[in-house]
Amino acid sequence: MVRFENVTKSYGSFVVLDGLDLEFGAGEKVAIIGPSGSGKTTVLRMLMTLERINDGIIWLDGEPLTHMERDGQLVPANAAHLRRQRGKIGMVFQHFNLFPHMNAVQNCMEAPVTVLRMPKAEARARACELLEMVGLGDKFNHYPGQLSGGQQQRVAIARALAMRPKVMLFDEVTSALDPELIGEVLNVIRKLGSELDLTMLMVTHQMGFAKEFADRVCFFHSGKICEQGPPEQIFGAPENERTKQFLSAVL
Ligand code: ATP
Repeated sequence: MVRFENVTKSYGSFVVLDGLDLEFGAGEKVAIIGPSGSGKTTVLRMLMTLERINDGIIWLDGEPLTHMERDGQLVPANAAHLRRQRGKIGMVFQHFNLFPHMNAVQNCMEAPVTVLRMPKAEARARACELLEMVGLGDKFNHYPGQLSGGQQQRVAIARALAMRPKVMLFDEVTSALDPELIGEVLNVIRKLGSELDLTMLMVTHQMGFAKEFADRVCFFHSGKICEQGPPEQIFGAPENERTKQFLSAVL
């Protein structure tokens, strides 16, 4: 579903992703872990095309993400190709990023109506269905300022799902939450994982959740993958010294 092929991203002379090769299968649930500054969030930001990569290529759903084929050659993608590819990806951020002047339903309707040109009635019905799914059936008309952090994050998840993505990206989605609110957000993610056929990539510091939820755990260090494998291997019997050091510090 997603493939990074020799992807490099730098800021000036600072190399954040260093010739990264990485593949995520359809329906796979992957946890990305690693020390601060190792490039985990950058992987998600590149997928969202929030910034351009310097070298290499990212494939999404069998097609290049930021390039397109023309006369047998790969050329930089035009706006229509980028929009179509980007539409396959939904992202949930650490700081919710909801529209403060819109209630929960309006937040979930906005992109389907303006980007997908979905009729308002259909977008509203879908928004309500998704808000029910994330346990907010009684908060349709609440504005972000009237919701707890955990509730806001669940609206953000519903809003991302409203665009019917094939891939969902979660960037430290519980980091800004009080400890007692973390569980409700993780429960929703757990539910999506079991009910929807989505590829899910999650940057997380919640090692317990990564262990339980992920099919595969990727340990990042200095813009590269140091080690990856099933959670039992990474958490139970890591082989790389850096992985061992990191886990002994955080567990
Ligand atoms: P954390 O766990 O702290 O969120 P991370 O592994 O997600 O860290 P990234 O956010 O991917 O790390 O950042 C990787 C490196 O790239 C960091 O050293 C960061 O300072 C640097 N970086 C990220 N964005 C920019 C930018 N716009 N300009 C310059 N440097 C940046």
